Amino acid sequence: MSTASRFALAIHGGAGTIARSEMNPAREKAYRDGLEDALRRGGAVLREGGSALDAVEAAVRTLEDCPHFNAGRGAVFNADGQHEMDASVMRGDTLQAGAVACVQNVRNPVTLARRVMEKSPHVLISGPGAFEFAHREGILLEDDQYFFDRFRYEQWQRTKGTDAYQLDHSDGEHRYGTVGAVALDLHGHLAAATSTGGMTNKRWMRIGDSPLIGAGTYANDATCAVSCTGHGESFIRAVAAFDVHALMAYKGLSLAEAVRTVVHDTLPPLEGDGGIIAVDRHGRVVLDFNCSGMYRGHLAPDGTPVTAIFRD
Ligand code: ASP
Repeated sequence: MSTASRFALAIHGGAGTIARSEMNPAREKAYRDGLEDALRRGGAVLREGGSALDAVEAAVRTLEDCPHFNAGRGAVFNADGQHEMDASVMRGDTLQAGAVACVQNVRNPVTLARRVMEKSPHVLISGPGAFEFAHREGILLEDDQYFFDRFRYEQWQRTKGTDAYQLDHSDGEHRYGTVGAVALDLHGHLAAATSTGGMTNKRWMRIGDSPLIGAGTYANDATCAVSCTGHGESFIRAVAAFDVHALMAYKGLSLAEAVRTVVHDTLPPLEGDGGIIAVDRHGRVVLDFNCSGMYRGHLAPDGTPVTAIFRD
C-alpha cells in the first residue's frame, strides 16, 4: 500500500462578492470559528490515520451543521420557501462517487451522498426518491424549522415572487454559498466532498454543479481532489473540477497551474464567478478564486488551522 509522508486538508464555505462593508468583527469571527471547527474535526481524523473520505465527510458535516454556511442547517430558501439541498462525495482511490440532489429535511446531505456511494448501485439520486432512500438507510432527518435561518429568510424575502434567483454570500447581484472539503490521508489517498443549498429563490428543482461529479467535485489519486463553489451553471459548462484533473493528467500542469487556468482563464468568459479548492497527491493545497472573497481554510504543515475570507 502506498503511503504519504503527510496529510492535508482544505475547506471552503462559499465564494462571491463578499462585501467588506457587510462584515463586522463578530460576523467574521463566527465564520472563522465555523471554518476552524471543520478543520479541527477533519484534521483529527487524518492525524489518527483515518481516511481522506472520513475526513472530508467530517469537515463538511461540521459546516453543514453551522448555520452561517449555505448547506444543511442555514441552507438558502427556494422559490417555495423550502430548503432543497445538493451534495456529493468522491474517493480518489477507487473513483467511487455518490451524490444527492434536491433533497429536503436531511440533516447532513453529504452523509446521504456517501451512503448512495456505499449502499446503492447508483451515483446520483434526487428529490423524493432520495428522501425515501435516506429514510430506509436511517439517515438523520430534521423538520423544516431546523433549517431556518433569519438571515437567509430575509435574503429570500428580497427576491420572493420575482423571477430573480441569487447565489449566496454577496451583496450585489451574485450570491454564492456552498461548503466543500478536499483531503490527502496518510495512506496516500485523496477525497473530495461538496454540499449546498444552491441558489436563493431557485425554481423548477434547479440543480447546480455541487452534486455533479466532474463539475463541482472530483477526486483521483493519480492527480488531485477538487471542490468548487460559485455560479453553478458555469461550473457545469466548464466541467470545472474534472478539468483541473485533466490539465494535470494530460498536460502535466502542476496543481497550482491547473487551478489557476480553470479559475482565471476558463471560467470568467462563462460568467463563472467563484473559486476552487484542491489538494494533490503530494499534499500541496491550492485555494483560488476570481471574485472578491472565498470563505476558506487549510491546515498548516504543523496542523494549525489557517482561515481567510478576502484576498488578504
Ligand atoms: N455552486 C453552487 C450552485 O450553483 C452555489 C455556490 O457555490 O454557492 O448551486
